[in-house]
This record gives sequence, structure tokens and C-alpha cells, in this order.
Amino acid sequence: MAGEEPRIDPWGTLEVKDYKRLMEVFGIKPIETVFPLLEKAGMKPSVHMRRGIVFGHRDLDRVLEARARGERVAVLTGFMPSGRFHFGHKLTVDQLIYYQRNGFKVFVAIADAEASIVRRIPRREAVRIGVEEYIANMIALGLDPDKTEFYFQTARGTPYYRLAQLFAGKVTAAEMEAIYGDLSPAKIMAALTQAADILHVQLDEYGGYKYVVVPVGADQDPHLRLTRDLADRMGGIIELERPASTYHKMQRGLDGAKMSSSRPDSTIFLTDPLPEARRKLMRALTGGRATAEEQRRLGGVPEACTVYDMDMYHLMSDEELAKIYRDCRSGSILCGECKLIAWERMKALMEEHGSRLEEARKIAWSVVETPRF
Ligand code: SF4
Repeated sequence: MAGEEPRIDPWGTLEVKDYKRLMEVFGIKPIETVFPLLEKAGMKPSVHMRRGIVFGHRDLDRVLEARARGERVAVLTGFMPSGRFHFGHKLTVDQLIYYQRNGFKVFVAIADAEASIVRRIPRREAVRIGVEEYIANMIALGLDPDKTEFYFQTARGTPYYRLAQLFAGKVTAAEMEAIYGDLSPAKIMAALTQAADILHVQLDEYGGYKYVVVPVGADQDPHLRLTRDLADRMGGIIELERPASTYHKMQRGLDGAKMSSSRPDSTIFLTDPLPEARRKLMRALTGGRATAEEQRRLGGVPEACTVYDMDMYHLMSDEELAKIYRDCRSGSILCGECKLIAWERMKALMEEHGSRLEEARKIAWSVVETPRF
């Protein structure tokens, strides 16, 4: 609605459709504004930045300037171990790999506390999923475990927990309600623990990384805003820098709605058997016309197509993507053929991933300290 502030809820299912409006209201800068700085820091924009999938940032310029000065920089993200690892998760991991290959230290929080208190997942199960689904898949995708600090929230130690406790004295219930809507003790704990996740790597005990970027989906911005405020308010107790963040468009599900592990047909899991993955892709919502004749005459609408999303987020080079776009628009390709091209790419990716995953699973338990319950 015109003039109404977009409300985004990290625990909800709302899709963020109007990214431009989100940027205006919350002061997120276009990602292109850091391209000259990336160059200065000896980096190139990532494929997701070039394609506008990573569309905005806050303070990434400060992190890149620090990197250009030779300071240590880090990237941090968290995953809630509540389901199977899918292509939506891969988007975040691809960004971690991009930063890692450009000299950033990587921290990955496995949010087992949040999984257990907000989603009611038994703790042992959350730990198993965290290691066997999330950490193993991340390593198989190419994240270097030697340069990554994976940790479970409930095994992280006193200084980290102390931060979450101190944060509790720096925010009011009314402020949290304004950000998160309906509150519960579990949600308050989870939000403060997430703020500790983002900020604790600045403490000497965890490496003293003052320049940290957090890549998130646009729906996670409320957490980032709270965390930035908390960093400011800790002055005089502990000096904390505001974290930087980047924002990506969340990949739509194959049915056009939100991608979610809880609706298995909305996504493809990286461990889906190939016939299952193929079935899902071939049934995915496209931007094709009602009949072949109409499509040849009018062309398709790649912007409305979830197969094109897969191509753009995960499967194709710039040249291949440009060709699919042109062929779709001009009506010279029909959806059946186009899906088969996407499937060939996806099959190759999943086969390679499957063999890397076998190796990654052998070491996944050894690269993280698991909670002692
Ligand atoms: S031709 Fe391809 S890109 Fe175009 S709408 Fe069909 S599946 Fe999507």
C-alpha cells in the first residue's frame, strides 16, 4: 500500500516483493555503489552481485576499505538446523565461498539454540542435522573447513553468552515488538543470541574481527537493525563496531511461492535422488504461455519463471543465461526444451556434489565442537 512501511518478519512467511521500496525505507544502498571499492580491494563483484541477486548493502564500503588497508575482515552467517539443505541455502554458501576466496575469515553459526527453543526441534536432532546436512553440504560446495569456523550456539562459551545477557539490558520490549511483532520468551532469546552471533567475533576471545559482513535475505533485516543498535548502545561497556550486511533476493520456490524445506516440492534438496529432482524441475512453474503456438508468437516471460531463477541463481554462465533470456523472449524456445537444458546443468552439478558430499561427510563431525548437552 502506498506510503505504508513494508513490514518484514524473520519468522514469518511474507515474501518481500518490493525490494526497491525496502531499500528506500530502511536506507539500504544499491550494491553497485561498492563496485569501485571492490576493485580497490583487489576483488571483482560476485556473480550474484552482477546479476542483482545480491542487490543492496549497509556499510560494506567500510569493510572493503578496511580490507584495502590490509586489516583483517570476516564474513558471518547462521543456519537454523531444521530441515534438509536446499538450493536456497546454496545461495548463501556461494557468497561465503566468494568472500573466503577473497581473504575473508568465515564464521558459520549453527543455530541449534534457536532450532530447539523456537522450532521445538529436539537438541540431538538439531546437532545431527547441523553436522550431516548443513556443515557437510557446505564443505561439499567448496567452503574450505580449514579457513572456516563452524560453531554451535550452545557450545560457544561464556563471553558469547555474556554478550547476549548484556544485550538484554539494552533493548526494551516495545522496541522488540516494533521489530518482530508478537514476542515470546523464546523469540526474545533467539533474537539476542543472534545479535551475539553477529557481534561476538569482535571480542578478543574469538579473534577480534572488527570488520564483519553478514549476507542475509531481505527478510532478515530486522535482526540486522537490532544488532546495529545494540552495538551502538554497548559503548562504555564493550566497544563494538556496527556490522555490515548485504541483502539478497530470496529465490522463489518452484511453485512460485516461498521456497521452504517444509514444502518439499517447492525446492530441490541437494541430496534429492536424481529422478526426484528431475520430476520437481519438470513440474516447476514457468513464465510460458498457455499453448505452444502462443509462446512461439508472443515469447515467454523469464521474469515470471522459476526455472529461469534456477538458471540465474545456480546453473548458467552469463552467456548461457543471456541466450536463454533471448530465446525465451523471442519464442524460439519452448518450456519443455528449456527445462531439459536446465536439467542437464543441474544433473551435472548434483552428481558432482554427491561425490564431494561423501567425502565431506567423513570429516564434517571433526570440524566443529558439538554441544555436550
Ligand atoms: S522458455 Fe524457459 S525461461 Fe522461458 S518461460 Fe519457459 S522455462 Fe522459463
